[in-house]
Amino acid sequence: AKDQGRNTYHYFKPEMDVHALERLMLENALRRAIERDELVLHYQPQVAAGDSRLLGCEALVRWQHPELGMLQPVQFIAVAEESGLIVPLGDWVLDAACRQLAQWQAQGRDLVMAVNISALQFCQSGFVDSVRRILAATGADPRKLELELTESALMQPTPEVLARMNALCELGIRLALDDFGTGYSSLAYLKRLPICRLKLDRSFVKDVPDDLEDVAIAMATLSLARDLGMDVVAEGVENEIQRAFLAERGCPVMQGYLFSRPLPAAELQRWIDAWSGATA
Ligand code: C2E
Ligand code: CA
Ligand code: CA
Ligand code: CA
Repeated sequence: AKDQGRNTYHYFKPEMDVHALERLMLENALRRAIERDELVLHYQPQVAAGDSRLLGCEALVRWQHPELGMLQPVQFIAVAEESGLIVPLGDWVLDAACRQLAQWQAQGRDLVMAVNISALQFCQSGFVDSVRRILAATGADPRKLELELTESALMQPTPEVLARMNALCELGIRLALDDFGTGYSSLAYLKRLPICRLKLDRSFVKDVPDDLEDVAIAMATLSLARDLGMDVVAEGVENEIQRAFLAERGCPVMQGYLFSRPLPAAELQRWIDAWSGATA
């Protein structure tokens, strides 16, 4: 009986099935979360290297789960990607970010909103149309919207990908290449793609100026961007040494815990008010 019990246990709960079941439950919960508006955006300031002036922010999604509390992207973005839910999730994010952007515009705040776009979302044939629809519905200024694409979305810059990027640029939207340096895309692609900005991945920022390889990659990125007429945002700037090092070498924009963690809209609003008060 004991053996049987053990077998039964193994039969019903082998590792993989538990894992698959958890995935399925997470997927269903996430689907409901999108419908029930349980997602929220936090906003991380992006500042000018010289005077730390607030230039804009990056929208980062969180899931306010009724029982589990605030879930971070690492806990659900992978499942969203695998299940295809990243498409409706991405639409939700773009809509919420554009509504916030329109609100800042109404307050006379001149800020840029950067939004993460997953490769799967970008590759949907209706992507440009849904961007257009969201811009029209929210009244957000496309010239203040920046879309962060990853190298995986652009790995094969087919005529279709290029046409889609150009269509976004024609709307006035700016395109940034996220996590720059971590992907596989050929540098030769860069000159053909309508990209305004490279986001230097935080893995290369973390150990400057001590790690000479990271220093080499950071400096190569800065000079490449300069030569191609793009600007650079250094991600994950956590301390004054990193800031000073990158600023001295001409990195124009910074983002990281040194300046601020991602904040809920209300807290960022205090940041915006304090900052504009100081310069008024
Ligand atoms: P990412 O696009 O590279 O976003 C930057 C991540 O670095 C954020 O993590 C941010 O909180 C974190 N970070 C910022 N400054 C620092 C710093 O100084 N030190 C350290 N250690 N970390 C810093 P978060 O919010 O957990 O997001 C993780 C990833 O999830 C993002 O990486 C992005 O790939 C993905 N993600 C977040 N929101 C969205 C979204 O709305 N759509 C899509 N498709 N992906 C998203
Ligand atoms: Ca990003
Ligand atoms: Ca990034
Ligand atoms: Ca990164």
